Amino acid sequence: MPFLMRKTRDAEAGALMHSLLKEGDGKSWEGDQYRPSKAVDRADGLGLPASLAVAQQRRNCGNADCAGGWTRPWRNRRRPIFECEWGCSGRCVLAMVQAAARREFGDGDATSTAMHRHRVPLGLVMLAQGWITHPQLQRALAAQRESGTGRIGDWLMSECGLEAEQITRGLGIQWGCPVLTTDGFSSEAMALVMPKLFVDTFKLLPLRVAGSRILYLGFSDRLDASAAFATEKMAELTVESGVVEGVQFEAARNRLLACDGVEMKLEAAEDRDAMAARITAILEQKQPVASRLVRMHQFCWLRLWLESGAIGRTGRLPVQSEDMMDYVFTVGSPA
Ligand SMILES: [Zn+2]
Repeated sequence: MPFLMRKTRDAEAGALMHSLLKEGDGKSWEGDQYRPSKAVDRADGLGLPASLAVAQQRRNCGNADCAGGWTRPWRNRRRPIFECEWGCSGRCVLAMVQAAARREFGDGDATSTAMHRHRVPLGLVMLAQGWITHPQLQRALAAQRESGTGRIGDWLMSECGLEAEQITRGLGIQWGCPVLTTDGFSSEAMALVMPKLFVDTFKLLPLRVAGSRILYLGFSDRLDASAAFATEKMAELTVESGVVEGVQFEAARNRLLACDGVEMKLEAAEDRDAMAARITAILEQKQPVASRLVRMHQFCWLRLWLESGAIGRTGRLPVQSEDMMDYVFTVGSPA
């Protein structure tokens, strides 16, 4: 009964596949698990109204080396606010911005580079899970070598008939992160999270906010800890990173890129000092009620909240593009 046997085998394979995929298959939000992050320093004050109130009440300059200390009561200067601190003068704002730039360039990408170096290759992950056989892996590797391009996951799909979902699950194990879906993805809201330039340049995608505290960040083939950290600081939300299956990822990303984001200006600065001077000039001119500087790889991202109404109730995510401004700087020669 060859026909019946084949049917049974198919059924068994189906059941096996089901058991493999049922846990954390990324189809439901239940797979999104909250893990508290230690990455965000929340001691710097959260809500804008509170920090504004403090700044207005005490008028304490945010520059650690401020010569003026407490400002004179007749001085009518309430803005700009940079990283929850108020600067009593342009000179003090410059000192605050310079300190922020030093901080952003100080740590480098060492942590994430070190993490990347010690990843177990995806093929070996899949092999260890028993999802592929040794000959299958060899075949995919040979095809990849021969063509000289393509990711091993793509070759496992084309050469060995693996499903995209399985590859994504393998990536989740490889990176020790959940598999996320684009369910509940709102392109309009997510387009406000960061400049579209970042979504375009890096393989990442803000997916959704859960419980007003967690921002899910999706990646298509590898996590980017440094980008996640920058996003976390800017959004003042805990960022949970995960991998998203390729076709879903691309579709959602294209939808986001078609939306209006926060108005962004891209500027080139000769060096860090020039950037700090330029940022100070922007702050003095725009007088934001809140602003922050973070670095995402080669870009320095300055975000301005021009009116308090621009800040929603979810971390620091803007509710609309109005009264928001993004400046993105490249520093030094574009080598
Ligand atoms: Zn001062």
